[in-house]
Amino acid sequence: MRQRLAVANWKMNGHLADVAQARAIADGAKDMTGADVLICPPATLIAEVARALEGTAALVGAQDCHAAAGGAHTGDLSAAMLREAGATHVILGHSERRAAYGESDAQVRAKAEGAWAAGLVTVLCVGEDEAVRDAGEAEAFVTAQVEGSVPDGAGPHNTVFAYEPVWAVGTGRSADAETIERMHGAIRRALLRRLGDAAEAIPLLYGGSVKAANAEALFALPQVDGALVGGASLKAEDFCPIIAAL
Ligand code: PGA
Repeated sequence: MRQRLAVANWKMNGHLADVAQARAIADGAKDMTGADVLICPPATLIAEVARALEGTAALVGAQDCHAAAGGAHTGDLSAAMLREAGATHVILGHSERRAAYGESDAQVRAKAEGAWAAGLVTVLCVGEDEAVRDAGEAEAFVTAQVEGSVPDGAGPHNTVFAYEPVWAVGTGRSADAETIERMHGAIRRALLRRLGDAAEAIPLLYGGSVKAANAEALFALPQVDGALVGGASLKAEDFCPIIAAL
């Protein structure tokens, strides 16, 4: 049995007034058993959201971290700083960071090692863009991303995986069941080759235009252990029905 998980990725959205949404999400999830709810607000809100979630089962995560433990890195945040603010998890290798900052698999891997050293669980993202898919290379591309971005020693205690096809992120166009099953199968095989039996229990999430209307069908797929949700995670009224479908 793999851990099931609903992750809210707020991206660069959320102000102090939205901390109440995080609490409402946690309250909406209070009857959940055997599944985790993780809210990843912008770093400025991690401490506030962590405080607001005290006494609930919901967890707080960051959206990125620097690989180093500290030093001359103006504008960056270390995993230990995020941990101190209340984060238990960090999203790494999101396609928006790979595209906007040219983050490579090697950088994602180094960040994951830094995150683990500070006690954070990593939510590692992979996914192909439309051109790669049209060229028929999606499986090979994503397999290479898995091989390049997962450090030795990954297992269910420190790693969650997310398959997020770039063409499905923020477009309203979720991948279909057949595509998700095929890609999740390829990712699981790559993890098993890379990590051995420890890979079997690593949760594998789907992300890309998940909403209440498609969540139930997605979560019914045997290889989908949960979702990484952007747009539909900002408001409790949108995210709670997704959590309820988990
Ligand atoms: P979306 O974003 O749900 O808005 O498509 C998902 C993500 O980027 O994690």
